[in-house]
Amino acid sequence: MHTKVVKFGGSSLADASQFKKVADIIIADKARRYVVPSAPGKRYSDDTKVTDMLYNCYEIAAKGNDFEKEFTQIKERYNSIIADLGIELSLENEFGTIKSCFIGKAGRDYAASRGEYLNGIILAKYLGYNFVDAAEGIFFKEDGRFDAEKTNEILGQRLSVLENAVVPGFYGSMPNDTIKTFSRGGSDITGSIVASAVNAEIYENWTDVSGFLICDPRIVENPAPIKVITYRELRELSYMGATVLHEDAIFPVRKAGIPINIKNTNSPQDEGTMIVETADSTNSKYTITGIAGKKGFAVINLEKDMMNSEIGFGRKVLEVLEKKSISFEHMPSGIDTMSVIVNRNDLDANEDDLIAELKKSVKPDHIEIERNLALLAIVGRGMKSTRGTAGRIFSALAHNHVNVKMIDQGSSELNIIVGISESDFENATKAIYDIFVNQQI
Ligand code: ASP
Repeated sequence: MHTKVVKFGGSSLADASQFKKVADIIIADKARRYVVPSAPGKRYSDDTKVTDMLYNCYEIAAKGNDFEKEFTQIKERYNSIIADLGIELSLENEFGTIKSCFIGKAGRDYAASRGEYLNGIILAKYLGYNFVDAAEGIFFKEDGRFDAEKTNEILGQRLSVLENAVVPGFYGSMPNDTIKTFSRGGSDITGSIVASAVNAEIYENWTDVSGFLICDPRIVENPAPIKVITYRELRELSYMGATVLHEDAIFPVRKAGIPINIKNTNSPQDEGTMIVETADSTNSKYTITGIAGKKGFAVINLEKDMMNSEIGFGRKVLEVLEKKSISFEHMPSGIDTMSVIVNRNDLDANEDDLIAELKKSVKPDHIEIERNLALLAIVGRGMKSTRGTAGRIFSALAHNHVNVKMIDQGSSELNIIVGISESDFENATKAIYDIFVNQQI
């Protein structure tokens, strides 16, 4: 039997009309047997997600204050979905239990997890699917890390005897039976875990955009979609700020060789983005797959005569950073110069100390810090086999008067990272998009 695992994000389940779209999508394909819902998200831009309402309500409860008003608002979100769907269901018992647990200070994670738990019960009822509580199938180890082995075994077994099921996203249980959640946006991870446990042919992740776009739509109007992306390309782009999917969501399915398809609940006919292990570069229209970047970096520039022959120089620099718990992003070097790129926030808290330590440790002739650096990653499996990609990037930047401060090409030739001034960030993104996509050269 074909099996697809489908996860729906909060905006796909924000109210009854969204629930109906979700049900239509599920019914349209018999293989969509296992469903992972998020908690109800925002219905309009300044609405509040139920998860945030729960965190807030619990905070009040944990201080021993009266949380009746906040709790009633949460109940109303669910009750209005139930009423508008016209289903015969009462969550009064569940609400009662949750309220007592809030009074008994059952924990923030427990509180937040109730968002997907309750939404899962409603969705299961509406679809006529079985409900499987994630607390009984998704497990964490004593140290808080996800327990893949135990989960795969128990959840796999449990689901294998069910024709269909709704498994709420975002949480699981600890060895002492308390509830633990993943980090925010973690229902994506649950979807991936369920897909791996049932060995699904595909993990469909339904959201409110039609997959990944080549670059940020706030910078380039209507950028082209990415149809196929590899896990490695996605990792590079996500790290640089492209967000659609939780970063950790790729690991369980990738290990199991299951592709992910990002789809749009509000436009189900769109193909969306397919995330796969390997893809031929010829199936992509463009040389590059995506462009993403981040502001907020700083460079520490070190200069010292004969640095190139001083054994241990780099190690000492990195040791100083390590002692201060600062991770570095890149470290381009010249013969007598070395630059270390770090997150500006990490630097701000430590700057004077750090410089003093570096001076003591490597005795540079000159040390200076440059702020306001942005990094832009141009990612694409097609770059390896296409000559002149770097040339095109730099001539596009030069034509648009963008000064390149740093260049780094990963050894896999999957990406080229350029360091530019923050004020050039938008301009640089547009220039690169234009040359590779609009002009397709
Ligand atoms: N509801 C949780 C959150 O808002 C998890 C999720 O939606 O994936 O972060």
